[in-house]
Amino acid sequence: MVATLTFLGSGTSMGVPTLGCTCAVCTDARLPNSPNRRTRPSIAISYGAFSNGKPAHTILIDTGPDFHHQAIHENITAVDAVLYTHAHADHILGMDDLRPLSFARPEGIALYADDDTAKVIERVFEYTFRTVDRYPTSARVKIHRTATAAGTALSLFGVDFIRVPVNHGSNTIAGYRFGSAAYLTDMSGIPPESLPLLEGLDILVLDALRREPHPTHSHLQQSIELVEKISPRRAFFTHISHDLDHRTTNASLPAHIRLAHDGLKLEFEIA
Ligand SMILES: [Zn+2]
Ligand SMILES: [Zn+2]
Ligand SMILES: [Zn+2]
Repeated sequence: MVATLTFLGSGTSMGVPTLGCTCAVCTDARLPNSPNRRTRPSIAISYGAFSNGKPAHTILIDTGPDFHHQAIHENITAVDAVLYTHAHADHILGMDDLRPLSFARPEGIALYADDDTAKVIERVFEYTFRTVDRYPTSARVKIHRTATAAGTALSLFGVDFIRVPVNHGSNTIAGYRFGSAAYLTDMSGIPPESLPLLEGLDILVLDALRREPHPTHSHLQQSIELVEKISPRRAFFTHISHDLDHRTTNASLPAHIRLAHDGLKLEFEIA
């Protein structure tokens, strides 16, 4: 089955342009349609038989603070489930924007998160998860706690989403593999037990924040070396700061490695 991976956002936590910054990349990013304009990172995965021009199922990985804008831009009108990587603001703050999409579903929208992430989502959006005096028009969502072991599989509409643990500084958070693609955002290293889960990939998406090393994110050279080690057919970098100009960085990369950009769509085999 063919699926489409859409980069809803490809930027780091501050977004590009970075507020108050007048560097060349941020200046370019203020132009309409600049590939340097990067909203906060998340992806949509769509698959299944089309009806009315829409795929049967749409799964999100993370809902960042730009989700409302991203969903309008990509014409996302239905979401079946959200898989969370971790509870940083740039990955969860758009959860509340699921509200109108959740009202259309009697069963609500399923959110999948490990216990650490779920606890933060429940605290930030406390009014949504209360059992007494719940805010009446809050999102109809249900959090399903996921196990954290490498290789834990969640089956959603015939597709296994497999947990690929990654290091994010001193934390271990979730990456996901689904069919021939893997999405590893917010990653400063890949533990040895995760490497077998990344064999035979068509698409590998990796964090590549900037040129200089960073304590909690991979940098450009480290990510290039990880691509060489894992050897997917193609690789795309995301969670990008204003340090990397889209055009000149892409021109310097090997042909099978590209910087992602907001709105980029990739087709791949999911099952
Ligand atoms: Zn992040
Ligand atoms: Zn800048
Ligand atoms: Zn993070």
